[in-house]
Amino acid sequence: WTDYLEDARIAARAARDYVGGLSRPTVRLGITGLSRAGKTVFITALVDALLRGGSQLPVFEAMASGRIARATLEPQPDDTVPRFDVERHIATLTGADRRWPESTTRISELRVAVTYQPARGFGTAERTLIVDIVDYPGEWLLDLPLLNRSYTEWSQEAVRLSREPVRAPLAADWHIHLQTLNPDAPAEENEAVKAATLFRRYLTACRQERFSLSLLPPGRFLMPGDLENSPALTFAPLDLPEFPGEPVPGSLRAMMERRYEAYRSTVVRPFFRHHFARLDRQIVLVDALSSLNAGPEAVCDLENAIGTILESFRTGRRTLLSSIVRPRIDRVMFAATKADHLHHASHDRLEVFLRRLADRAIRRVSYSGAAIDVAAVAAVRATREARVRTGGNEYEAIVGTPLAGERAGGDVFDGKTEVAMFPGELPKDPDLMFSGRSVFRGLTAADPTETDYRFLRFRPPIVPRGAPLPHIRLDRALQFLLGDRLG
Ligand code: GDP
Repeated sequence: WTDYLEDARIAARAARDYVGGLSRPTVRLGITGLSRAGKTVFITALVDALLRGGSQLPVFEAMASGRIARATLEPQPDDTVPRFDVERHIATLTGADRRWPESTTRISELRVAVTYQPARGFGTAERTLIVDIVDYPGEWLLDLPLLNRSYTEWSQEAVRLSREPVRAPLAADWHIHLQTLNPDAPAEENEAVKAATLFRRYLTACRQERFSLSLLPPGRFLMPGDLENSPALTFAPLDLPEFPGEPVPGSLRAMMERRYEAYRSTVVRPFFRHHFARLDRQIVLVDALSSLNAGPEAVCDLENAIGTILESFRTGRRTLLSSIVRPRIDRVMFAATKADHLHHASHDRLEVFLRRLADRAIRRVSYSGAAIDVAAVAAVRATREARVRTGGNEYEAIVGTPLAGERAGGDVFDGKTEVAMFPGELPKDPDLMFSGRSVFRGLTAADPTETDYRFLRFRPPIVPRGAPLPHIRLDRALQFLLGDRLG
């Protein structure tokens, strides 16, 4: 019964969305990406650009041609979802001490009303497009395939993945504990807590910059939102044989299975129904540079994560009741963020790399569905370019102010001094980016031959009062995501 009631509620809301959409056309735009991928900065820059208007977005046709009369913030429609605090984030970015805003840890929303002049058609009457921006952790998106996996399947996959060469050392403590567990033994709360703690520690280690792995469900273990320390997160995979049969009643396996089911029904399914399934457009931000920097395993992992995400978009189209009422996600963009860490000569190469990654994932999961595009972007460009002479040679450099405490080439930065960096370049041949060789040479100003594989993090740029935030290809993303709806 509760399921029927829930379905009825969802159908009613879909109908409301539909009727509302007739009088005020609405786009629900999902913005996601793993922790630190750049969601908060991206949304802040996107909304700032829409509100401000002007000519700094040449590829976003509706704005560049002056057809957008104004964009304003409106109260967001979902009473139970926090509002994305855009004013505070803009103030943080552009205030006297120029800091990056606090990152996303849970879902939030913001409504922008864009009033525009149609490009063609009926007279000169203005129209309004409502853009509902939905910001949510990518970790939650990577959970959706769990809806199609039993506890046994998930366990087997998680254990297999954890034995791969790059992950095995990070999983060592968890593996030792796993070997001591007998799935058929009576359920012990302490064992479950210990297993969950060690499993979570292993997932967290995989996310560290040095490894930068992407595919790590369950997402709430890394991004718990409101569920921090909740019993819904006290489960972990067990080492099960290929065909384990039914669990022994009262056993550790039976308990783990029950909690996994509870996680799916109380965490993953509601997220799918109440948020994901209502999206019309989606941008997935990926920190491709960190993956490239961490090496081929991280690149392969990112490709698998993109494949998993694509599977979810298929799920979204097929199984949801309300998709009968109106079509859902029809455009997906994968955007590599922080492109300002590279010289512009490498921006196209980063896009080619991402396109190749997406194409491989599309083939692997035989995806067909929403239109897909890729872009290399910097929502807020923290660097500028320069040519720097050293040792009689000229190099293409990027110039920015590293965050206080950042290190490179033996220097520790104070957060005030600008430096020129030789960012290294991506190879012309994208195949090299998938190969075993390191592709990056981040060279420090002090010695352009010394290799530094880490990327410096920069402070936000100094922006003169009233001037727009500098960006790279934010307009390309806007054009793909909203351009056709403002035609
Ligand atoms: P979230 O966890 O996905 O919300 O990530 P954030 O938007 O908070 O970004 C995480 C960090 O990445 C920021 O604190 C910045 O250091 C960096 N970052 C994000 N976007 C940009 C960008 O466009 N340019 C540069 N240089 N750094 C960025």
